[in-house]
Amino acid sequence: MELKINTNVNFSKLSENYLFSDIAKKVKAHAAAHPEDKIIRLGIGDVTLPLTSSVTDAMGKAVLEMGNKETFRGYAPEYGYDFLREAISRHYKRFGVSVPPENIYASDGAKCDCGNLVDIFGDNEILIPDPVYPVYLDSNVMAGRKATLLPTGEQTGFLPRTDGLAEKPYVVYLCSPGNPTGAAFDREGLAEWVRFAAQTGSLIIYDSAYEAFVSEDLPRSVYEIDGAEEVAVEICSLSKSAGFTGTRCGWCVIPGAIRAGGVPLCKLWERRQATKFNGVPYVVQRGAEAALSETGRRESMDNIAYYMKNARVICSMLKERGIFFTGGVNSPYVWMKCPGGTSSWEFFDLLLSRAAVVGTPGSGFGKCGEGYFRLTAFGSADATKEAVARIADIL
Ligand code: PLP
Repeated sequence: MELKINTNVNFSKLSENYLFSDIAKKVKAHAAAHPEDKIIRLGIGDVTLPLTSSVTDAMGKAVLEMGNKETFRGYAPEYGYDFLREAISRHYKRFGVSVPPENIYASDGAKCDCGNLVDIFGDNEILIPDPVYPVYLDSNVMAGRKATLLPTGEQTGFLPRTDGLAEKPYVVYLCSPGNPTGAAFDREGLAEWVRFAAQTGSLIIYDSAYEAFVSEDLPRSVYEIDGAEEVAVEICSLSKSAGFTGTRCGWCVIPGAIRAGGVPLCKLWERRQATKFNGVPYVVQRGAEAALSETGRRESMDNIAYYMKNARVICSMLKERGIFFTGGVNSPYVWMKCPGGTSSWEFFDLLLSRAAVVGTPGSGFGKCGEGYFRLTAFGSADATKEAVARIADIL
């Protein structure tokens, strides 16, 4: 039945197709037409290694507590249990950063925080790098906001720059190491954004979901940069670092010093979360606490080392073939240029039809991603080697 209510018209302004559902459709069609092909997926950025034993032990213990009248817990605090906020605060000390637990807000993941943060802002000039994780743009479009895209490319190392921006206040999204390009800011590059934000009264929303993949001497947190605690909110997640994509736990940091419209920004977020969020499940928070412990972090870093070996396999083949790429060093993503000037989707089709390998067309992350292609290191070692051999055959 057609109702007579109004729906949110902003949804009609979203780009029509969702990248991963288009990919899924094409893969399904290929599998139906070629049942003999063993398709290898290096497309979606999901992890494949299971949760580590310190995490599952902690969660198992927490499950038993929930089944016991003496230790059962109901609603979790909206901003996270103290034990988790303190564990996250200690985690920041690993890279020399002091973030007080009361500025940390646990959540069910970075995607949710990216989407939900929009609630606390009014109309602003919004800057979003291109190409980038699509959630920043789409969540703003759903809220009826427009954003200016900051073009990036080979000349800028796929990192957005402040050059040429008018000196006025913005809400700027930065992601480092970046999805999909794997490009990561150095301290000077990030400091330039922090300086710009301080000069213009702008806010940086910094997504550090891939911090654990940083292997070079590069910032893992925006708060490694002096003054960032005055201008930057940070969103982070255990999805990629500790395999929590299906377990769901992340956090955002909103420093108490950041004020806008006469109020601390964190007060707006606290109000928003208290109204619309009822906390991360206790069992998950215990798992997250364990993931951030010394043992948990060591186990996670072993998993990351496994993925990064895959990244090296992909990168060395591309190097041998003389194909331009970024990423794969501080990031599980390898961002390659499509050979012979093919478009992102043409290369997707070629790879699927001739090598039965699935990657992600760069154009799905923004106009500046056209002509590029994302491969992920999250597969198994054997599948990655096999995929790389097949790709090498057709390049
Ligand atoms: N931020 C970036 C840059 C991502 O690439 C992703 C997932 O792919 C997320 C956030 C989502 O993380 P979560 O699983 O914590 O929602």
